[in-house]
Amino acid sequence: MITVFFGKPGTGKGTQAKMLEQASGLPAIATGDVLRKALREGTPLGLQAKSAMERGDLVPDDVILGIMKEALTSPEAIRGAILDGVVRTVPQAEGLERTLNELGRPLSRVLVFDLPNEEIVRRLSGRTVCEQCQTPYTGREPGSVCPNCGGKLVRRKDDDPDAIRNRLAVYERDTAPVLDWYRRRDGGKLVTIDASGTPDAVLAQVRRALAL
Ligand code: AMP
Repeated sequence: MITVFFGKPGTGKGTQAKMLEQASGLPAIATGDVLRKALREGTPLGLQAKSAMERGDLVPDDVILGIMKEALTSPEAIRGAILDGVVRTVPQAEGLERTLNELGRPLSRVLVFDLPNEEIVRRLSGRTVCEQCQTPYTGREPGSVCPNCGGKLVRRKDDDPDAIRNRLAVYERDTAPVLDWYRRRDGGKLVTIDASGTPDAVLAQVRRALAL
């Protein structure tokens, strides 16, 4: 089962992808996590992505398509995968479709996480993430210990107000058109998730949408 988690930044896709990974055993593939790890480790991929990520701009499609293909063909993804924030432009949606056709695997669902912008800004500006396992938290201070893995919680550089504004603008310009693309091709696969509830309430909707 291949599922795309789609939506603006800060709608809880990452939290939900990690919760569903635990509940279902399907791996969560998050291009943002892969890129942040590369950046920390100073690999060529990380260096290539650094400035775009810090500004809140998108990383080039060919870079993302390479990460996506590698992850989808890995043995962990044999039963399926949760693609978290992976499809952010129309060329990425086309590339995912090509890759899945090559692999002979259908796309099951596209879950669209919906949340008003004021709530997104509130959540992102209070967010910390674990440096190690990348789990996001609200209401925990930078420097405290991750309850999940014992790593250190930090603020993301792209969670500062200017970068948040830019990420929302980039969403409207480059990512929102992907929804129309899916509506035209695969309308029945789109399911809207009301992302305003507690993490458990949102997870219940997600599981219902995927019959998991
Ligand atoms: P995220 O953790 O999903 O918010 O991603 C953090 C940053 O990584 C984004 O603001 C982009 O700079 C980059 N990124 C992650 N996924 C993608 C993608 N699918 N396309 C382009 N850039 C991405």
